[in-house]
Order: sequence, then C-alpha cells, then structure tokens
Amino acid sequence: MEKIRNYIDGNLIAPASGDYIDNYNPAVGEVYSLIPDSDSRDIDQAVIAAQKAFPAWSRLAINERAAHLLAVSEKILANLDRLALAESIDNGKPLWLAKSVDIPRAASNFQFFATAIQHFASEAHPMSDQAINYTLRNPIGVAGCISPWNLPLYLFTWKIAPALAAGNCVVAKPSEITPMTAALLSELCIEAGLPPGVLNIVHGYGQKVGAAISTHPDIPLISFTGGTRTGAEIARVAAPMFKKLSLELGGKNPNIIFADCNYEEMLTTTLRSSFSNQGQICLCGSRIYIERSLYERFKPDFLAAVQKLTVGDPLEDSSRLGAVVSEAHQEKILSYIALAREEGGTILSGGEAVTPAGRCKNGWFVAPTVIEGLSPSCRTNQEEIFGPVVTLTPFDDEAEVLSYANGTPYGLASILWTENLPRAHRIAGQLKSGIVWVNCWMLRDLRTPFGGVKNSGVGREGGWEALRFFTEPKNVCIKF
Ligand code: NAD
Repeated sequence: MEKIRNYIDGNLIAPASGDYIDNYNPAVGEVYSLIPDSDSRDIDQAVIAAQKAFPAWSRLAINERAAHLLAVSEKILANLDRLALAESIDNGKPLWLAKSVDIPRAASNFQFFATAIQHFASEAHPMSDQAINYTLRNPIGVAGCISPWNLPLYLFTWKIAPALAAGNCVVAKPSEITPMTAALLSELCIEAGLPPGVLNIVHGYGQKVGAAISTHPDIPLISFTGGTRTGAEIARVAAPMFKKLSLELGGKNPNIIFADCNYEEMLTTTLRSSFSNQGQICLCGSRIYIERSLYERFKPDFLAAVQKLTVGDPLEDSSRLGAVVSEAHQEKILSYIALAREEGGTILSGGEAVTPAGRCKNGWFVAPTVIEGLSPSCRTNQEEIFGPVVTLTPFDDEAEVLSYANGTPYGLASILWTENLPRAHRIAGQLKSGIVWVNCWMLRDLRTPFGGVKNSGVGREGGWEALRFFTEPKNVCIKF
C-alpha cells in the first residue's frame, strides 16, 4: 500500500517514529494509503531545514522568488487531472468539483501571490523638513501553516503561497484526514526546482504535529484554518509565546432571503450555498431565513430542487454530492439531524445516510437535508454541523432577521438576497460577519480581506492582508 512521505529539506522521507496512520477513501469506506504518524522530532528537523534555507530565500530578488512560485503554479496546472482525482478519492468530493474549483484555485493561489509580491510596497511618513519615517516589511522567519480537510489543496496553498512570497520559509501540516494532494505537492515542488528547506510538509495528527508547530520556539507565526475549538487551543499555547496568529475558524452562516429578490438566481445559488462540497465549506449558508410572504413559495421550489440532487459515486459526473469526509463525520452529521428532531424540527427532505449501489455501497454519504420548525436559538441553529444540512425559518422584518443572523457565536460569512439597494447597504453594514455576499455566493476576488469575527477567527487573509501578516513592519526614522 502506498506510504505517503514527509517533505523535509527537499527530500521525501519517512517519519522519525516509523509509524503510519490509515488513510481512508470515504466513498468506498476502505483504507487505501498510509500517512506518516510524525511527531515533534520531524517538526524539529523541518524547522532546522527551514532556518537553513531562510537567509538565501528571504534575500532572493523578488522576481526570482516569484518565478519559483509561478513554476509551482504551472506544475499544479499541468497535473490538474491527477491532483483532482487524488483530491476526490481522499476527500469524497465530486471529481468535477475538484477539477473545476479546488485544483485550479490551488494553482491561482501560487500565481496570485507570485505576482502580488512584486507590487507589494510599504509606507513613508515624512515629517516636513525634520525627518522621514519609512516602514520596512520584512519576512519573519519560519512560518507554521496548518490546514483542514474540507478544501485540502485549496486552503493549504492559500497559506503557503503568501508565506513563501513574502520571503518566509514554511513548515506546513495538512489535515491527517486528507493528506494526499499535499503529498503530491511535495513531489511537484521538487520537480519545479523549489530550493530545499523553503517548504517542508510534515504529515500526522493535530495533537502531535500541529501541537509541535504551535509550541515550537522557532516558529514565530502561525496561520491556521480549522475548527474553533482547535483555534482556541492553538491560541492558548501560542499566545503566551507572543506568536503572530491568524486563525480562520468555523461558521454558522445566515442566508437571508427577502421577497424582493431575483427569485430564480436566488434559488439556484441557494442550492449551491447549502450543499456544495456536501455542505462542508466554512462559507455555506446553513441557516436560511425567508421573508414570510415568500416562505410558502420558496419551500416547495427549494425542496423540489433538493430532491433532484444526486448523491453518489464522486467519480461520476452526475453526482452533485459525493461522500462526506469520514465515518466519524457522517456520525456527527446524523447526530445533529437526530438532535434537530428532538428539538422539534420537521425533516422536509433527506435526514438520513445514503447507500449508493455498486462500489460505493460501504461509503459514507448523507442525503441533503432540509429542516423547518426550529427556533433560531436551538442548538441545531447555533452549532456548526458542517454537512449537507440546512434549516428554514420565516421572518417578518429587517430587525427580526438581523437579530437571528447575528445571534450565534460565529461571524464568518452572510448571504443576503434583495433587489432593494438601500436595504442591501443597511443590512450589510449591520451584519456581524467578516464577509457579506449580496445576491451571490462564493464570488471570490483574491485581493479582498478574508476572515471572520467572534468565534469565526482572528485576523484576515487574502491580498495585502496576507502579505502584511507574513511580514513584520519596522519603522525607520531618519532625522535630517
Ligand atoms: P480541525 O480543527 O479538526 O483540524 C484542522 C487542522 O488542525 C488539522 O490539520 C488538524 O490536524 C490540526 N489540529 C488538530 N488539533 C490540533 C492542535 N491541538 N494543535 C494544532 N493543530 C491541530 O478542523 P477540521 O475538522 O479539519 O476542519 C473543519 C473546520 O474548519 C470547520 O470548523 C470549518 O468551519 C473550519 N474551516 C474554516 C475555514 C475558514 O476560512 N474560516 C475554512 C475551512 C474550514
């Protein structure tokens, strides 16, 4: 069986422990490869390699650093089909989705930051004829990047690319649930001629490898995307060491639909914002609030569309939803559906596991599930489920829906549907979230600030925000 290897100092190597973790294909429910069960010894080795590479990498002319990143981007594009298939097998997501979204975006991440860094500038503050202040924005050293399983290569590269572009070296850890495309990226970086030690990828469990990154004294900054509880744990151990932290955490996003919306566009997009990637996107709108006058029209139309979604083999083009990522995650989603029933909800569609015929009969699938009749304050409407489960709730006016939308501990993204321009501005301004999409969803411009408020995180990624995070400003004041 294939054994994934760590990528340290330009080499593909076995973990210090010699132990491996089973890697499952969730669509068939079988182990298909082995993941290094690394620990702090592997992280120590990776940090030494990164420190060794840092002086040359950070001093490399910007256009040469950019050329290295563009070479990685090109390798990703040249291997798009192979990477997409690997992502689909590892994660359970439909192959068409990996091909059209995940892998192209991973290539764009490298391309975007390779070009962005060439335009990155810093400030000057002249003090009339007395002095001039200028700000240097220098790379910091070894950056730790820790990412989740839902958009594996997409989010992994979203951190690595700006960290490297800014001149840092990186020790990165993909999720142990979906390590395969990170392993392939290691090979592609070698092929692309990335200097040894600039990027190091160490596989394994969060409590071992992730914790070793969070506590390592020579990793002064950490970019983390994952669950809120894990983010709190990283902050607990890293904050007293005064590490720079960017934490992109969970969400429980509202999708607010006013009766004056563009109905057809709203319906099509709401289907996507509810169930894309099996609902396993931190930006999915899982709480759907519908203006009461539209509720009885929306409900049957939405349910009819949901019932047409095919759940099945991720390798089939006809499958709109593939498998959820693991057996444990399937159990978690089903337990929330059971909770929704206990809390008085009515399951309008789905509500159970799906067993496709054929090769996926032992895979972990969940039917797209729509629930109504729950209070906005119940656990189903407050806690992140991270699966293909949405709730429908009617509202009467703006104040009411704003109180529902803002009434969870999360604040990542909000979706708003209305053709009333003043209302769109009014509500967008009052939503407590880092991102507001009006009449669209997942329309991404990589230059914009990306991140959440409240329990959805601290800090912003994307564009200059990411380059500022991965550099340290230093003011130089020169008296005339
Ligand atoms: P997770 O928190 O369980 O794991 C994320 C990563 O952290 C993994 O690589 C894991 O191994 C590692 N980790 C676990 N324990 C650790 C520890 N003690 N120290 C350091 N690292 C540790 O999250 P997940 O289940 O992989 O991903 C799903 C979550 O990610 C959801 O909550 C989702 O909303 C969130 N997410 C957020 C965004 C965003 O941009 N805000 C994007 C995608 C996913």
